Amino acid sequence: MDISKPHAALLSSPGMGHLIPVVELGKRLVTHHNFTVTIFAVTSPMSPAESDVIQSCMSPKLFDIVQLPPVDISGLVDANSQIVTRLSVMMREALPAIRSAISAWNPQPTMLIVDLFGTESLPIADELDMPKYVYVASNAWFLALTIRVPFLDKELEGEYVDRVEPLRLPGCKSVWPEDVVDMMLDRTNQQYFEYVRIGSEIPMSDGILLNTWADLQPTSLAALRDEDLLGRVIKSPVYPVGPLTRAVSASNDPLMFDWLAMQPSESVIYVSFGSGGTLSHEQMTEMAWGLELSQQKFIWVVRQPSIGAADAAFFTAGNALGDDDPLKYLPDGFLTRTKNVGLVVPLWAPQAEVLCHPSVGGFVSHCGWNSALESITNGVPMIAWPLYAEQRMNATLLTEELGVAVRPKVLPSKKVVGRQEIEKMVRTIMQDKEGHAIRARVKELKHSAEKALSMGGSSFNALSELKNHCSMKVRAP
Ligand code: UDP
Repeated sequence: MDISKPHAALLSSPGMGHLIPVVELGKRLVTHHNFTVTIFAVTSPMSPAESDVIQSCMSPKLFDIVQLPPVDISGLVDANSQIVTRLSVMMREALPAIRSAISAWNPQPTMLIVDLFGTESLPIADELDMPKYVYVASNAWFLALTIRVPFLDKELEGEYVDRVEPLRLPGCKSVWPEDVVDMMLDRTNQQYFEYVRIGSEIPMSDGILLNTWADLQPTSLAALRDEDLLGRVIKSPVYPVGPLTRAVSASNDPLMFDWLAMQPSESVIYVSFGSGGTLSHEQMTEMAWGLELSQQKFIWVVRQPSIGAADAAFFTAGNALGDDDPLKYLPDGFLTRTKNVGLVVPLWAPQAEVLCHPSVGGFVSHCGWNSALESITNGVPMIAWPLYAEQRMNATLLTEELGVAVRPKVLPSKKVVGRQEIEKMVRTIMQDKEGHAIRARVKELKHSAEKALSMGGSSFNALSELKNHCSMKVRAP
């Protein structure tokens, strides 16, 4: 076996937010670190956006990508079950297919890297005698909470959200009860048990990769490595290898890019809530009025309003318009009144390309970690609008710790952000003095990200260390 050229099997779980960072990690391993890579992807049954990503890996072809057959979990979960439950059940059901695909692959991979929802596949690496790693395509603070939760589960009684005190994470910023991840909102729900399980499985790996970089989160990373703090739980190395964000490609949306090209520099605010985010009808109405009142240029990705779940579109990202045109839920006359000011895009936009356009100067974001990184690496400040998963923590990180976002106040009586608040926030980041400071900070981080990824930078070196670690493991198991 040629140990100077490791062969990494990368396992990705369904969802754009999972597939994209795995694909980007694969590209980086091949192009910068001389790895051979094979990606094994469990995809959502009905996601054209995921199929597009897989298709885009065909030219230039840097690695093989094996799309595992979609799993039907309809008889295993009820219609109301949460995303984390669904993802966990999908990945569990896919286990036999994952095992046979990886073990049959020729030449056999020399290491396995799974994503957050792939930790139940780690024993496959033991069976095939390979070192095993977890790629948590999120930030260091989220990892700190995730590996702490099996302990919190034993130490604390009652619901986390009912606590007055924050949850302490040794060496890291504490987590306020209102910011805990969705998986921790109800300790009787199956997604909580899945999250606790994942939190206890991650430290069993030979190393953990994170989509962050040394200078972005020095304190949390130090805590994860300190044996007197969280390093007591994680005994293996932590590799901050990011920011790995979606590569920009030529866009096939001339209307949008012709329009953007006509706008002044940093004058447009982009509004989008990730692959799954949806707003209530009332919130959608307030958003429309807020944008209109701000008189700022905008691009808004609009979805049908949600009745209950804010993550309604997670598994169907990029789906074609059905009978239910989302634009019909906008206030009467909105499209006509704003036709010279903004663009409304149904369902899906080429976000990576939009955010790097020089005319874009702000982003109303649900704070999914990929979106946050895409914003930072393009020097675009954010209005943090968390909806689900770990996004409330991300919003707190972006506003309080990194200083690259503002967070609107929710009207407690109505549980919506009102139109005046939206107008104010848009003006704050696009025009006001406070916005200038935030913009300067995000540009600083953009440069720090470029430095981390460049040859000899901290994230570049982290992947070199991973390669050495893997070679040593293969040589002396
Ligand atoms: N995305 C996109 N167009 C859209 C919405 C999302 O290209 O209209 C991409 C976005 O650029 C990001 C990913 O989908 O790379 C969403 O990942 P994120 O972690 O931000 O959120 P999630 O979808 O996992 O909640």
